[in-house]
Amino acid sequence: MIGLTNIEKRFGDNLVLKGVTVTIEEGSVTALVGPSGGGKSTLLRCINLLEIPTSGTVRIGDDALEFHPGSKVSGRAIQRLRLQTGMVFQNFQLFPHRTAIENVMEGLVTVLKWPVERARERANALLEKVGMAHKADAWPATLSGGQQQRVAIARALAPSPKVLLCDEPTSALDPELAQEVVDVLGKLAREGTTMVMATHDLRLASKIAQEVVFLDAGAIVEKGPAAVLFSNPERQRTKRFIATLK
Ligand code: ATP
Ligand code: MG
Repeated sequence: MIGLTNIEKRFGDNLVLKGVTVTIEEGSVTALVGPSGGGKSTLLRCINLLEIPTSGTVRIGDDALEFHPGSKVSGRAIQRLRLQTGMVFQNFQLFPHRTAIENVMEGLVTVLKWPVERARERANALLEKVGMAHKADAWPATLSGGQQQRVAIARALAPSPKVLLCDEPTSALDPELAQEVVDVLGKLAREGTTMVMATHDLRLASKIAQEVVFLDAGAIVEKGPAAVLFSNPERQRTKRFIATLK
């Protein structure tokens, strides 16, 4: 289970998350939707602690960290929690001077200190899973955006994280290439990968998310099962926003 309790995040005078509480069940997919600047990326980055919450609690499985203004959480505790997450970015962010398979192996070898051969085996299996085994030795620049994103997904999954965080994973892609990524994420979802994704892509969200959280101006307006929230939201604010996605 992933639990965010009363998460606040302040950048200077700007309170961009205003006490967000969400529970994410193991094996479920949660979509974060909402207008630009609403805090979706910041919330994702508070789960893997790329942003340190100003206050609130982040729990991943049995590990929980509590944040308070002015108090400091150790780098080691942050690293331990972060290792239980994998992140996929809008613009892929593969290491340009590493081949596809080296990208997937990198964290296993350098951070987790796996022997190279064991890392290569795992990386191969993951490339297979995302349909990229045939491009294992390709350089990122020679791959399409959809292919790069599939390699990035394999890389994020390499350390067997408890949750896969995706920030607009299809936004930089043409519809056809976006579909490849939707298909891979859909397959991972069916296999029981716990995911949280920020997305404007209604096709992606409605295809694979069970839960939807609508975030506006740093606060949750409405959350609930995808089927309900997309077709029959309670709040006017949610209705208006959903209409803009269609
Ligand atoms: P989008 O749909 O455009 O990706 P979003 O919902 O992901 O938007 P965030 O990127 O989380 O929104 O931004 C929420 C607010 O936090 C915005 O007002 C943004 O300007 C601010 N913000 C985000 N990161 C920082 C930062 N590093 N420093 C200062 N302000 C930031
Ligand atoms: Mg964002």
